[in-house]
Parts: sequence; C-alpha cells; structure tokens
Amino acid sequence: MYPRAFAYHRAKSYADAVSLLSQLGEEARPLAGGQSLIPLMKLRLSAPRHLVDLSFIPQTSYIHSNEALCLGAMTRHAEIATSADAARIPILRDCATGIADPQVRNMGTIGGSIAEADPTGDWAPVLLATSATVRTLGTNGERSIPIGEFIQDAYTTALQPAEVVTEIVVPQPTERSGGAYIALKRCAPVYASVSAAVQLTMDDAQICRDARIYLGVLGLTATRVNAAEDLLRGQQITAQRIAAVGEAVMDIAQPQSDMRGSAAYKRQAAGALAKQAVEAALKRARGEQAEVMHLYA
Ligand SMILES: Cc1cc2nc3c(=O)[nH]c(=O)nc-3n(C[C@H](O)[C@H](O)[C@H](O)COP(=O)(O)OP(=O)(O)OC[C@H]3O[C@@H](n4cnc5c(N)ncnc54)[C@H](O)[C@@H]3O)c2cc1C
Repeated sequence: MYPRAFAYHRAKSYADAVSLLSQLGEEARPLAGGQSLIPLMKLRLSAPRHLVDLSFIPQTSYIHSNEALCLGAMTRHAEIATSADAARIPILRDCATGIADPQVRNMGTIGGSIAEADPTGDWAPVLLATSATVRTLGTNGERSIPIGEFIQDAYTTALQPAEVVTEIVVPQPTERSGGAYIALKRCAPVYASVSAAVQLTMDDAQICRDARIYLGVLGLTATRVNAAEDLLRGQQITAQRIAAVGEAVMDIAQPQSDMRGSAAYKRQAAGALAKQAVEAALKRARGEQAEVMHLYA
C-alpha cells in the first residue's frame, strides 16, 4: 500500500528540526532511518502530513569514547556493530549485531529505535542494563533523561512535542564489569520472541557487587528482574546461583501466547537466555572472552 501523501522537509541542524516540528505541529514526525516509520506509513497505521528528515544533519552519526561512550542519535546499528569503541562495552555489540538483517542495520538508527519505544525492540533492555542516558533537544532547550524515565510505556516516551533525541550516553563500565545480551528470534529479519540483558560488576574477591537483569519483549516495557539480581548481589556466582537466576526469571516472566510461541515456551526461553547471559557477562567481567550469538529457532 502507498502511504498517504506527505510533505518532505530536510532539516539542516537539530535546532532547525525542532523549529520545523514546532511550526508544523502534531501532524509532523521526525524521520531517521525510516525502518519503523515508513512501514507503518505504508500500512497507514501512521499518516503524518509532514516528515522532517534528520538524515542530512551533519555530525549526528558518531561514536565517541571518553569518560562515557556517546552515540549520536543517527548512528546506524551497523556502525555500532563494527565500532572498536563500542566493542569495549560488549553488550552493545551483542545487541547491534543481532538486529534484523544487514539492510535494517544499515539504515536503522539507535535514536529512532528508542524514540519508537517498540516493546519488541532490542535496544531498551540493553540501555537499561547499562544505565544509559538520553540527551534531547526541544523548544525548551536540552535535557538529559535516564533511559528508565525516557521509555514510559509501549510506543510512549518522555519526548515532548517537537523534541528530538540527539545522543545516547552509556557510562563506561567499571573494572571487573561485564555484560551480555541474547535474544531468541524466529529468523533474522523479525523482532525477538524474548531477550535478556545482564550487566554484572564483580570485586577482586569474585563477589558480585552489582547485577542488572532485564528481559525484553515480555511486557509493554523491558522487565527488570529484581529477584534474580538479589540472588547474585553480595555472592559468588556459582552454577547453582545461575540455575536459581533462571528459576527466578521464569517465576516473574508473564509472557502472552502469540504467533511467536506459547507463554510456556517463552517462559522457559526467558530462563535459559538469562542463564546464558549471566554466564557470558561473568566471563567478560573476569576479563575472559565470551562470544554471544542470538538464538534462531
Ligand atoms: C524488517 C524489520 C525488522 C526489524 N527487526 C528489528 C529487530 O529485530 N530489533 C530491533 O530492535 N529493531 C528491529 N527493527 C526496527 C529497526 O531497528 C529500526 O531501526 C528502529 O525501529 C527505528 O529506527 P529508525 O532510525 O529506522 O527510525 P524511524 O523509522 O525513522 O523512526 C521511528 C520513530 O522514531 C521517531 N524518531 C526517529 N528519530 C528520532 C529522533 N532522533 N528524535 C525523536 N524522534 C525520532 C520517528 O518520528 C518515528 O516515530 C526492524 C525493522 C524492520 C523493517
């Protein structure tokens, strides 16, 4: 199907985009990689009268590694997947390499993904596990919003009208930290059926100082599994504890049966993914190599 007719505007800067969006009103939408918006427009599930294209704004696609890792909002998934700077926070690479297929990864942006706040998207659990912050520009100036406050509900964010995402800031993990993200997908070009993001911080006596565990896809927003985190904090991470994490995840997961699988199947998968993610995160926190692959079934 063809989308409804719309006017196309090319922003020269983020300030110009904010000004255009503000003038054009609620019938205007920013356009980033178009990998969510254009399919929705073709299905007429979204029918904006104006698109404000962010793609031609200079210096909006970058990965800078300083005290934090700063990702420009227009940075494509593929750029993150191949970036040496991003690879120093391996959970980011796990996520970026597994998003859909090369076409989507070459066009889709991290800023567009979080602005979309699709509950089945891959970035939210990862950015929550890493305590990322979202930087924005709107008619009232710049804001820095913790990702947990930015994503408010399915397809709902803290963005105000005419406000755009400009940057995602991921704190550099401390020494002896490691994270991992694993998603179960039916095949490459579809969204995950369930996913797990884990970020661990150990001490030099191999005691877990902090654990952040999020499940993706199973709720309207990513689900934090506090009970599983509590099993790890202050403890040595043994095989028995990892098994208990899997059980805690299965207890808390409340999936719905749908075309991606039955609720029972997804609950089992969530437990298994969480265990694998903890194992990989632990190896990485210890400075060991751990290759993470999404599972396709
Ligand atoms: C076949 C297919 C499979 C996919 N599979 C996956 C998957 O497995 N995992 C996954 O995570 N994603 C998947 N995606 C989505 C993909 O990751 C998109 O990149 C992402 O959802 C949106 O990014 P975008 O840059 O394309 O944004 P767009 O589609 O351009 O925009 C999405 C929304 O965000 C708004 N927006 C965009 N940029 C900004 C900004 N800077 N500030 C404010 N608002 C903004 C737009 O107005 C729009 O409402 C898939 C997409 C397709 C087509």
